[in-house]
Amino acid sequence: MDILIDGAWVYANGSLHIGHIAGLLSGDIIARYYRLAGEQVCYVSGSDCHGTPVTIRAKASGQSPEAISDQYHDEFVRCFNYLGFSYDYYGKTSSKGHKAFVMAFHQKLYESPHIYEKAEPTPYCDHCGRFLPDRLVVGVCPNCAGICRGDQCDHCGQISEAPDIIDIQCSDCGHVPRFITSKHLYLRITDFEKELTYLVNDSIGWRKNAICFTNRYINEGLRDRAITRDLDWGIDVPKDGYTDKKIYIWAENVLGYLSSSYLAVGCDQEVFQRIWSQDARHYYVHGKDNIPFHSIILPALLLASGEKYRLPSHIMY
Ligand SMILES: [Zn+2]
Ligand SMILES: [Zn+2]
Repeated sequence: MDILIDGAWVYANGSLHIGHIAGLLSGDIIARYYRLAGEQVCYVSGSDCHGTPVTIRAKASGQSPEAISDQYHDEFVRCFNYLGFSYDYYGKTSSKGHKAFVMAFHQKLYESPHIYEKAEPTPYCDHCGRFLPDRLVVGVCPNCAGICRGDQCDHCGQISEAPDIIDIQCSDCGHVPRFITSKHLYLRITDFEKELTYLVNDSIGWRKNAICFTNRYINEGLRDRAITRDLDWGIDVPKDGYTDKKIYIWAENVLGYLSSSYLAVGCDQEVFQRIWSQDARHYYVHGKDNIPFHSIILPALLLASGEKYRLPSHIMY
């Protein structure tokens, strides 16, 4: 049997700490167990080099996002080697291989009926002279009243949308942003309510935490998500009219499980298809903050691709 083990991609915006290692260790144990049992194991992960966490860190240290993410990526590789992690492939989202895979995936995705264009009010900071996607805004969570960022509330785990955030501010300078209409591509997650409900209720390999979190998201009502961002740093959007935007980090880093398993098997299409077939077993090893991205956004992207890729069979948190 093919066993794919997907270790969470670590943000290349700071050094690893013991919490990262504790969270990732179970992936290595599963990989070693299945190798000893004689199964075909593909154990992959990598460094998450895009998105606002890296741009914020780059700005603070006076370096480019590329330089700072490469610096941490190299540090992660040394660290994992030193600790004896047995990855079959450890990549980075800024690599040529990942970018090419993601752009081909997205180009095909945009032709599906599950993607649509919508102009939305987007926060813009006049003081900083830029749009403020994701972590570039902070405010009060409309769900739990805790401090939340533009993409997710750290307190309750809710995926947040900037227009809903109370007392919204630029996370960099503290100014109150104004909202400018900006056109984006959206993934119609609501198309997959039936499939996602079936997935969570049918999955014997999901930890209770993942099941409870995911059921809560579905019960509260799924929402479509923008998969593009007004950012300079990230993967280009392969569509006319979007050359000034980048692909949303969570619509490309989770595809790293596909790109890295493809690269791990030397770009062998046949083996790759087998790894992503319904017969394979897939383990996702990550922290609790990442549950909705693996249990909703990744499956929705896989379903929207129309490629009949294996959906997550085992979620380890
Ligand atoms: Zn600002
Ligand atoms: Zn909250």
